[in-house]
Amino acid sequence: MRPIIPDYLAEALGDVEADTSGETAGYIPELARAHPDFLGAAFVTVDGETYGAGDTDVEFTIQSISKPFVYALALSDRGFDAVLDKVGVEPSGEAFNEISLESGTGRPLNPMINAGAITAHSLTGAEDAIAADRVERVIHGLSAFAGRRLTVDESVYASERAHAHRNLAIAHMLRSHDILTTDAQATTDGYIRQCSVRVTTTDLAMMAATLANRGRNPLSGEQVVPEPVVRQVLSVMFSCGMYDAAGDWATQVGIPAKSGVAGGLIGALPGQVGIATFSPRLDAHGNSVRGVSLCERFSSDMGMHVMEVSAPARATVRSHHVVGVGPNALRILQLQGGIGFAGAEKVLRECVDAPFPESRVAFDLTRVHSLDDVARRMLLEVVRRLTLDGHEVFLVDPETIMPDPDPGDGGRVTVVTGADHAVVPPIAP
Ligand code: GLU
Repeated sequence: MRPIIPDYLAEALGDVEADTSGETAGYIPELARAHPDFLGAAFVTVDGETYGAGDTDVEFTIQSISKPFVYALALSDRGFDAVLDKVGVEPSGEAFNEISLESGTGRPLNPMINAGAITAHSLTGAEDAIAADRVERVIHGLSAFAGRRLTVDESVYASERAHAHRNLAIAHMLRSHDILTTDAQATTDGYIRQCSVRVTTTDLAMMAATLANRGRNPLSGEQVVPEPVVRQVLSVMFSCGMYDAAGDWATQVGIPAKSGVAGGLIGALPGQVGIATFSPRLDAHGNSVRGVSLCERFSSDMGMHVMEVSAPARATVRSHHVVGVGPNALRILQLQGGIGFAGAEKVLRECVDAPFPESRVAFDLTRVHSLDDVARRMLLEVVRRLTLDGHEVFLVDPETIMPDPDPGDGGRVTVVTGADHAVVPPIAP
């Protein structure tokens, strides 16, 4: 069977492809020259399954998407008190490079605007670390989130550094308030290196999935930062991640997110999936135009708004076995619990990974207590594709958990009731 999620992602990319509005970031010459038509999207589940469509392997610079991860590193290196002393958690409602600090304390309002991010960079590593060690700590930490060694794009670094007057001014202002206790020029250079780290869309989805998976990289298994740090970071991403569009984003998309001026965008859906998109043209807020459209669509298609109360997906497939032999052989997937996107994805994977030799397949919903809309659609699509692959499909659904199952075009399913698999009739000899 063809995998379903890449098909869905490709369709979503197709729908936004024609939108060429927006501009590449003009204030960093090397980014302004970037090829504007790239378009990619990737999902990584919390157990490390990767799905993608479009330009998912093209490298670009991480830019501001580094901010939540470096904030996480600062929190784990120096502890909450030391970091909160220097950087607040209040949405600023202002542009990312606004030169504004909290009156009285001189603290940057949050770590997602440049003032807070430059401060967070200065708080990584040991207190007595030199600038080069901090950069190494940051690159090493970002690499652990991605699960592979990342490198710096030296030409983007040089290009941004040559035009970094505003960030340098911010750093000097922070230094004058003793928020920054490190050298302003060296810290700004380190921050620009951090922004110039090269990633792919797939890397970003893996980094987001590490946050979604409570700080543990789903593939390497490394606990990159402690769990309480992840909760702090996701909360700040939720309220401040999209700059002056953060409120619109929180209500319409509802996924903790962060964008970068090279065109990347990530979303981390706790306990479920890391999402990333890449499309370099930006809107007036500095967010990727097509990335925002894609995330709006993902959120509404898949019920991903974090304020949507979702059921856990643990152990959705209770058992997967075959009864009977020969033409009477019946493959049974016994499902259980409340099933949402992540649970349904596990079912898809069981069906996509191995072609079934048995001609008859049953999904037993006897122990399922809820099935959300996306899970229903995903299961029906599995049914449809199994039918197209030549299987006869049964739904054991005594409680009518899935009323009126219609697998659509070319799909067919027979609903049987009763708690016993024996209700699926054997084929007459
Ligand atoms: N390096 C960029 C800057 O500090 C990052 C901005 C962004 O990605 O939003 O201006």
